[in-house]
Amino acid sequence: MNSYDIAIIGSGPGGYVCAIRAAQLGFKTALIEKYNSLGGTCLNVGCIPSKALLDSSEHYHNALENFKAHGIEIDSPRVNMPQMIERKRKVVAQTVDGIRFLMKKNKIDVYHGVGSFVDPHTIKITGEKEENLTAKHIVIATGSKPSSLPFVKIDKERIITSTEALELQEVPKHLIVIGGGVIGVELGSVYKRLGAKVSVVEYLDRIIPAFDSALSKELYKVLKKQGMDFYLSHKVTAVERKGDEVTVTATAPDGKEVQLTGDYCLISIGRRPYTEGLNLEAAGLSTDERGRIPVNDHLQTAVPHIYAIGDVVRGAMLAHKAEEEGVFVAEYIAGQKPHIDYNLIPNVVYTWPEVASVGRSEEELKAAGIPYRSGSFPMRALGRARASGDIDGLVKILAHAETDEILGFHVIGARAADLVAEGVVAMEFRASAEDLARISHAHPTFAEAIKEAALDATGKRALHM
Ligand code: FAD
Repeated sequence: MNSYDIAIIGSGPGGYVCAIRAAQLGFKTALIEKYNSLGGTCLNVGCIPSKALLDSSEHYHNALENFKAHGIEIDSPRVNMPQMIERKRKVVAQTVDGIRFLMKKNKIDVYHGVGSFVDPHTIKITGEKEENLTAKHIVIATGSKPSSLPFVKIDKERIITSTEALELQEVPKHLIVIGGGVIGVELGSVYKRLGAKVSVVEYLDRIIPAFDSALSKELYKVLKKQGMDFYLSHKVTAVERKGDEVTVTATAPDGKEVQLTGDYCLISIGRRPYTEGLNLEAAGLSTDERGRIPVNDHLQTAVPHIYAIGDVVRGAMLAHKAEEEGVFVAEYIAGQKPHIDYNLIPNVVYTWPEVASVGRSEEELKAAGIPYRSGSFPMRALGRARASGDIDGLVKILAHAETDEILGFHVIGARAADLVAEGVVAMEFRASAEDLARISHAHPTFAEAIKEAALDATGKRALHM
């Protein structure tokens, strides 16, 4: 039986990054993945394929709607859905190959098969053959799966999750999206731009509720302008398929019943931790009421040599959060003193305009009774935004009213996903809004909105507003 210093179950961004860091630190490392493909949700059915389709659909949208204004005339562009999906598959395949290369380079033993505990140090791998391995330390990085509503039967054909939505061979005529969170608005956006009618039904009174309300309001306005329909504060009570039609029934805020009929219904109400098949009991472990594996501040489970990271534990379900935790665990086992500031994990929505945020929202600061000052700046006032035609959006900076330390950094606009990095760096170094206001920002860039918002937060002295 092979024995290892560290064995990791699950090859998503948590697991494979943990494996690389462990190998770098000199540990004999094994990575166990039940599918043939490495990379987990993120690479196979999450971050990467969704961004590939977002980019393709944006090209199409621009060709259809925006080229003319730039003086580019082309005959009416058409969507070739099988080709778009094929390109996405290639992007995924290349990325997955990259992970396999990294495993080889770092001399990590990869096992394909379902990993389950035999005892706290032994894992059985059930794949084409069955074999056991032992490890001094074990890391559970088994990720998450899409959640559903108890009364909905996901048939994976017409009533689908994000996984199937990334493989459609046709543009829906009417896509009904249940859930206006990140995944719902991103995939809704893809198909809206490709020509589908898209209706988003959301239980809460706003979309992307995890973000500062200024961003959700602005995104709502822009997506509505792009033609998306929203049914906010609507409670879905039934989802029924008849032939190729799906009917969604929901209760409106006034108590009236609303019925929507489409050809596809995407269920995107969140994800749940995935621990099926692990046989946690054999290791002396169990899950909490939300299906997560409880961990302490060092990401140790109730059995100290077994760790858990990523979507399967508490915290944001994000690839880069899982990666940070993967590195953390490897370094902790090596006797180092790693640290993660969970308040500074950025959160991004890849619609166009993009939405990105780090730190606290205004609602959170209010609820916590923390005194703050707010500054904001609209993208439309920037030369760069005018030049490219990306005028929607704003930057909003929240700073402590007395110390001026930046507490929240919120962007909606072109390249927001990249712009948020400036906020993360500033907040990691505990910068003040005044610091950002005094830093030279290249002209013309979208990042100038950050400087201007910081100027607005520190005495209402934005220069171009
Ligand atoms: P996962 O990536 O879920 O990997 C877990 C792995 O464990 C899987 O490969 C699974 O097969 C394997 N496994 C499970 N059980 C076993 C077992 N018993 N034995 C062996 N293997 C097992 N996050 C972002 O940060 N940015 C984004 O843009 C983004 N976009 C997304 C878009 C979509 C459509 C979706 C669905 C998710 C998106 N996410 C995004 C979230 C991101 O994918 C997850 O947060 C991330 O993949 C979590 O990483 P993980 O390592 O915890 O688990």
